[in-house]
Amino acid sequence: MAAIGAIPSDALSGFMVLGELGLDGSIAAVAGVLPAAIGANGRGEGLICPAACGAEAAWASPEMEIVAAASLIQLANHFRGTQVLARPQPKIREVDGALVDLKDIKGQESAARLPTILPPLTPAELLEVSMIASVAGEIEGGALTNRRPFRAPHHSASMPALVGGGLRARPGEVSLAHHGVLFLDELPEFQPQALDSLRQPLEIGEVAIARANHRVTYPARFMLVAAMNPCRCGRASEPGFACKRGANARCAAEYQGRLSGPLIDRIDLHIEVPAVTAADLILPPPAEGSREVAARVARARAMQEERYAAIGLPQVRTNAAAQGPLLEEVARPDAGGLALLRDAADAMRLSARGYHRVLRVARTLADLDGAEKVGRVHLAEALSYRALVDEVRRAA
Ligand SMILES: [Zn+2]
Repeated sequence: MAAIGAIPSDALSGFMVLGELGLDGSIAAVAGVLPAAIGANGRGEGLICPAACGAEAAWASPEMEIVAAASLIQLANHFRGTQVLARPQPKIREVDGALVDLKDIKGQESAARLPTILPPLTPAELLEVSMIASVAGEIEGGALTNRRPFRAPHHSASMPALVGGGLRARPGEVSLAHHGVLFLDELPEFQPQALDSLRQPLEIGEVAIARANHRVTYPARFMLVAAMNPCRCGRASEPGFACKRGANARCAAEYQGRLSGPLIDRIDLHIEVPAVTAADLILPPPAEGSREVAARVARARAMQEERYAAIGLPQVRTNAAAQGPLLEEVARPDAGGLALLRDAADAMRLSARGYHRVLRVARTLADLDGAEKVGRVHLAEALSYRALVDEVRRAA
């Protein structure tokens, strides 16, 4: 445009230009505008981007020059000074209406409400989460939100959809769930290969995607929540129910055997949930709602942050980020707890990883109690969540 004189010849100097041009001169939204804007700002450049992406780009800096145009004509008018476009403003997406409160939930919808008891994203986390969403083209209307992500891919999801990949190395569900919750319903129905690919992000909090000539690494530190039926027909553990596919025990073993030991081993809390009956749906709500639980969670997280800061490890902010030797130090149980842990470790044949995971859960339960020391009661509860792992593993 500068070359044909539609805009002043020096108008574009010092600008980075981004967008998808339509044949009619319209400029359509593209993915990745936020990181591009941050990059341009770092180089001291301005940004020309699609109008639909302006609010997103505006997050990069309040000072940088941003021209967000809907069409080439708007862009030309802006630079000729006939109709100057206002600088776009950063937007926060309003939390959609009344979030369902924890106490209004019956049965399995609970997972989707997890973000209501988690603290909002910190500014640094918000930026990380938004950069990933931007690269994936998932920022609606350019507005960011400080709500923790909740992702629930269907069990037919491919491996690239889960961990990332494809033509443009798009971030997968594990990265879109960064700092939030990844919920996998009907866990054994996922492709075994796709489930296997979760092990790396679960262990190191990031995922590497190999391309033909380079590697892309995305952060992927998420809380994994999964649900499954006891067997494929769904009711093997119900009294009086006879599985269509043979003996109940065999039907359950076959189904649960689809999950690999190493994956099961990485899940800390295993809970058996009875099927929701009509009676459950008319029960009065439990006394504790999202607000009360969220306050307890916030207190426990504050305790954890203070603890690790006090021993000179401010980069560790939650128990989830504490590893082996550190866990042994901060979760050292009292005498009663230690005896219980020794017996259980033998009886359950806990691996070193399993042992540390029990310690981490017990420390967190103590924090939720506001307790300084990990007691026998906390260890007993942590071990009970682990006991079902062994059952499933034996089936595998
Ligand atoms: Zn069955």
